[in-house]
Amino acid sequence: MNLIGDYHTHTIYSHGTGTIRDNVEEAIKKGLKEIAICDHGPGHYLYGVKKKSFPLMREEIDKLNEEFAPKGIKILLGVEANLTGYDGSIDIDDKLINQIDILLLGYHYGVTPRTIFDGFGMYIGNPLSKVLPIGRERLIEINTRAFVKAINNYKIEFITHPGSKAKVDIQTLAREAAKVGTALEINSKHSQLSVESIKIAMKENVDFVVNSDAHRPEDVGNVEESLKRAKEANLPLERIRNIRI
Ligand SMILES: [Zn+2]
Ligand SMILES: [Zn+2]
Repeated sequence: MNLIGDYHTHTIYSHGTGTIRDNVEEAIKKGLKEIAICDHGPGHYLYGVKKKSFPLMREEIDKLNEEFAPKGIKILLGVEANLTGYDGSIDIDDKLINQIDILLLGYHYGVTPRTIFDGFGMYIGNPLSKVLPIGRERLIEINTRAFVKAINNYKIEFITHPGSKAKVDIQTLAREAAKVGTALEINSKHSQLSVESIKIAMKENVDFVVNSDAHRPEDVGNVEESLKRAKEANLPLERIRNIRI
């Protein structure tokens, strides 16, 4: 069994500790064929990549691809976009989409919401629902619908750590993701997808990915935690896009 690529790694362009080169060198050391640099979308007011940094990242990655092609590794520029509204909006526009190779989507606190209503549900309602049961079901329903709208609006490769921070109806999300070819991530750094969620999602025809979500170069390619949960859920490993058996 081999990990082909790690498609979720962070660098100093958001709040990772290593450079793009550091992550690539670690990926080569771990025997990966591909690595994606996916820093946080610009809507995150603490960690977001500055919009003006994307052309620099593009240039750096193009150069590194030339340099490292003989080592048999391909480097992708991506972004971990933020869900910013219940209408399925994200913090990446078409101009940015045209500069990247891979688009991921996640839910994070600390993002500028599209409207005040979105802000209430997403950044007040979701954290509050952890301690107060009031409105929890309703929030799950609207969180899920927002993700489904976003994956229908944009070509999203996979949803990062689904269910983390904002609870979702995992079976509905898996079913709708399968229809548009979006995979669900089993993230090594976050507890989602959990074993329980994998068991529910795998009833649908959806694909999975395992990623490190490395914020330090040494963590690139470390997906043991994800694989442990996948195995515990009895997920057939052929259903994981970046694993070759
Ligand atoms: Zn994330
Ligand atoms: Zn991340």
